[in-house]
Amino acid sequence: MGMPLRSSGKPITTMSLSSGTTQGKPKYVPWNDELFETTMQIYQTSFAFRNREFPIKNGKALSFIYSSKQFKTKGGLAAGTATTNVYRNAQYKRTMKALQSQCCSPDEVIFGPDFHQSLYCHLLCGLIFREEVQLVSSTFAHSIVHAFRTFEQVWEELCTDIREGVLSSRVTAPSIRMAMSKLLKPNPELANLIVKKCMGLSNWYGLIPELFPNTKYIHGIMTGSMEPYLKKLRHYAGELPLVTAEYGSSEGWIAANVNPKLPPESATYAVLPHIGYFEFIPLTELEQTNFLCVDPQPVGLTEVKVGEEYEIVVTNPAGLYRYRLGDVVKVMGFHNSTPELKFVRRSSLLLTINIDKNTEKDLQLAVEAAAKLVAGDKLEVVDYTSHVDVSTDPGHYVIFWEINGEASEELLGECCNCLDKSFVDAGYVSSRKVNWIGPLELRVVRGGTFQKILDHFLGLGAAVSQYKTPRCVGPTHGKVLQILNENVVKSYLSTAFN
Ligand code: AMP
Repeated sequence: MGMPLRSSGKPITTMSLSSGTTQGKPKYVPWNDELFETTMQIYQTSFAFRNREFPIKNGKALSFIYSSKQFKTKGGLAAGTATTNVYRNAQYKRTMKALQSQCCSPDEVIFGPDFHQSLYCHLLCGLIFREEVQLVSSTFAHSIVHAFRTFEQVWEELCTDIREGVLSSRVTAPSIRMAMSKLLKPNPELANLIVKKCMGLSNWYGLIPELFPNTKYIHGIMTGSMEPYLKKLRHYAGELPLVTAEYGSSEGWIAANVNPKLPPESATYAVLPHIGYFEFIPLTELEQTNFLCVDPQPVGLTEVKVGEEYEIVVTNPAGLYRYRLGDVVKVMGFHNSTPELKFVRRSSLLLTINIDKNTEKDLQLAVEAAAKLVAGDKLEVVDYTSHVDVSTDPGHYVIFWEINGEASEELLGECCNCLDKSFVDAGYVSSRKVNWIGPLELRVVRGGTFQKILDHFLGLGAAVSQYKTPRCVGPTHGKVLQILNENVVKSYLSTAFN
């Protein structure tokens, strides 16, 4: 019952690769000019709402954006990640300029052949244009946190480059070196200033406003699987507002953030009714029809009910017809007559052995509860994932943690018990009590392990711009599981139900 789609007649010129972190491999979805146009429209819409609350002018953006390689499919179509298809379009740059959000790095950095080199140069460009930077952004917030974690490692080298006006030898790509040589001039005053600022910070709190004093806000997708990074992002951002971006996917955009002042934890997204045809399968209906093995009946855009959860179904102008995106959203209210959605989670279950059912949200809550125990010792969980281990009898949950320091055996044992107790799903608790599910296992992995997983996905053609850490590593993720297991330094078994 939304408006009819404006056009489905535009040819499919390109294929997009979805990030594929859930299933272990990217999916090919059709892309055409119409999808590009709707991308620009949703950027403009969100910007209009955002700029009313947080105006920026004559601005540049420190955008941690990266393009993946484009290649040809067997049928001769160009293929690349959706973000790459967007960045490569000449209109993208013009739109971003009009939105005062032009990336301060040259194209050669965005399209560089190596992510690590591009990241280093994004940071360098940000510092060179530090006064002009009005916002710090990325597609998904993970890239911003990752960038500033990297800054902590390389800041002295960045300062040397600025002082001497010579790019570090770590950047080897000739295209990037050439482009950077045009920007980099010896500037000892700037180098000294940055050194002073970095030395003056306590544990890097408020790093972003210190480095980029005219920043008005931080911008990127911050809900769903990005929520675990908010704590660290707030630490770097100090008092700056965190504004979550749009809601969409390689399969097409869905909704814009029209309440940019809300913190990401309570953010909602208003569906743009003209950019796709959206239907909603009530979750209650889904459970019943799964049980009865019949097709679920979706409801239309204006028929959704406030407070209800739905799986979203997309028909888009590039030819996807009634495509189940695999996301669960909750209707929080209406903006005029279009629903405002809260992103709840991916719809698939992560952890299930018998009658237990735990989603990525349940895992997130359990990890948050247990992470509070180490926070007292000034330690943080850098990243995490999970696995169902059925090689033991009975099977059990395994949680992998990377933490940024040394925690005592006793404390980690407590964390393990806390994780086990935090899965409150009745199926899990009852199975644990009678040992149909064995004790939960916490495996602590070496620092840098999740970086190796990111590198693995990049090797498969994924783009950092769309990267999401897989929250459960199943049989389709053989290599990731291998990386995790090779890097385990300690493991603990829960005694919470003994
Ligand atoms: P991709 O496969 O790379 O196209 O990523 C699309 C997926 O990212 C969506 O199906 C969602 O699960 C997730 N996503 C996109 N935007 C948001 C958002 N604003 N909040 C939470 N999750 C999002």
